[in-house]
Amino acid sequence: MSKTKYIFVTGGVASSLGKGILSASLGKLLQARGFRVTNQKLDPYINVDPGTLNPYEHGECYVTVDGHEADLDLGHYERFLNVETHKVNNLTTGRIYQSVIEKERRGDFLGKTVQVVPHITDEIKRNVIALGESGNFDFVITEIGGTVGDIESLPYVEAVRQMKWEYGKNCLSIHLTYVPYLAAAQELKTKPTQHSVKALQQGGVQPDILVLRTEHRISDNMKRKVGLFCNVSEDAVVQSVDAKSIYQVPLNMQDEHLDEIVLHKLGFDVNTTPKADMRDWNDFLDKREKATEEVHIALVGKYVQLHDAYMSIRESLSHAATYNNRRLVLSEILSDTLTEDNAAEMLKPYQGIVIAPGFGNRGIDGKLAAIRYARENNIPCLGICLGMQCMVIEFARNVLGIRDADSSEFNNATPNNVIDMMEEQKTLVNKGASMRLGAYPCDLKEGSHVMEIYGKDTIYERHRHRYEFNNKYKTNFENAGMRCVGINTKADLVEIIEYEKHPWFVGVQFHPEYSSTVLRPHPLFLDFVKTIICI
Ligand code: GLN
Repeated sequence: MSKTKYIFVTGGVASSLGKGILSASLGKLLQARGFRVTNQKLDPYINVDPGTLNPYEHGECYVTVDGHEADLDLGHYERFLNVETHKVNNLTTGRIYQSVIEKERRGDFLGKTVQVVPHITDEIKRNVIALGESGNFDFVITEIGGTVGDIESLPYVEAVRQMKWEYGKNCLSIHLTYVPYLAAAQELKTKPTQHSVKALQQGGVQPDILVLRTEHRISDNMKRKVGLFCNVSEDAVVQSVDAKSIYQVPLNMQDEHLDEIVLHKLGFDVNTTPKADMRDWNDFLDKREKATEEVHIALVGKYVQLHDAYMSIRESLSHAATYNNRRLVLSEILSDTLTEDNAAEMLKPYQGIVIAPGFGNRGIDGKLAAIRYARENNIPCLGICLGMQCMVIEFARNVLGIRDADSSEFNNATPNNVIDMMEEQKTLVNKGASMRLGAYPCDLKEGSHVMEIYGKDTIYERHRHRYEFNNKYKTNFENAGMRCVGINTKADLVEIIEYEKHPWFVGVQFHPEYSSTVLRPHPLFLDFVKTIICI
């Protein structure tokens, strides 16, 4: 049996307790001890992947280098661990069923009745074990989405039960629950936790470690009581008090000795295992703590009502602010509310503007108004994916005088489709299949601002789009100062535009936000913020 250790993280009592942050934090601590760690997320919903989900449903759709449209928790994993994740790091019930059904159609089950147990559970386990058997990791930390007790979670809990049975000491279960504080009684209540652990036990899983999310500190007495009721030793009951920043959580978990408890339970000699070296992490947090001067940035997009919809952009900007010794104050502005008439007034308070990615034509006019304001008033502006496409449309209309310039996505009939679908993609009917997804190379033009920013001539960035800059208009744009400075040479696609008559006006067809991490902030965001504060 492989030496890889498998850790499962389940959640109880309520959703949104931060299983993803807890998993990433534990991963970080183990990694900082010198172990090779990967985090995985299993999502109990039936969508095959979150690619077709509206961001209002599950927040941002994250994209891995290998082109998988993934749950946003993979973004946390990458930002914390600074290690890339792949398709195998995220799985949904839909994909598991799809794969089992494909096998059934192929006749792989040799006439057997195909059932949740063992076929679905086997498929779940196969995908977890695949990471372990790759030989690349000492620890696989698998987070089970949803809340224990949900109908959808049952096969996953059963898979955990089986893995614990099969892998014994090499497998561990952590259950994260919530301990509410009743203000009227001035008391923390552990009963929901007890019930949640019972639900887990009913599925045959005895948690080895409990992490109690709480707004107030939990006494040792209470920990003892929870441990006793839940068959968990008192010293394996850990509390996770609300933190100021998600990046504080690994340190809080270190203070609670979570990594030590995990190692001990998995049979390591904690005394001879190196301590977690969190110096870089601490430096980052110190910088963050000390940065009191603010930088005010507006993010113009159409999904602003949900905090999670632009998660990676927020985090990338906050990394960039920290490394520039500033505190990020990010205002998300609903693009639908912006017009040519009010843009100057609404955007006046901001030192920089980011135009968000997106799909469909709602809010496009607002984005165009914001871009025009930024361009004409020398406000640093970063357009991401759809944001870049809007920069192209705005420039064509207002600078090149092509009044009907548009994207075929919004207006299929326009004769001036400055943004258009790639020829070979026009014939595809499957919406998912027509998307350009994952990391592609991009060559940077000698002498461009972006080449200076990146400090190299070829970069790899992640994509998620169907439409592209229409090369027919390239000379026109370049002659007017909008330079195409990043090119995918093989497919002859424009990846970056840069306006030379402006202090910082850059549009990128890719998503730099997916690859900014705590210890490796993204150069584009860094330079964007740096320029803002120098102006
Ligand atoms: N809707 C645009 C396209 O498909 C942009 C996508 C995006 O912003 N991710 O090309």
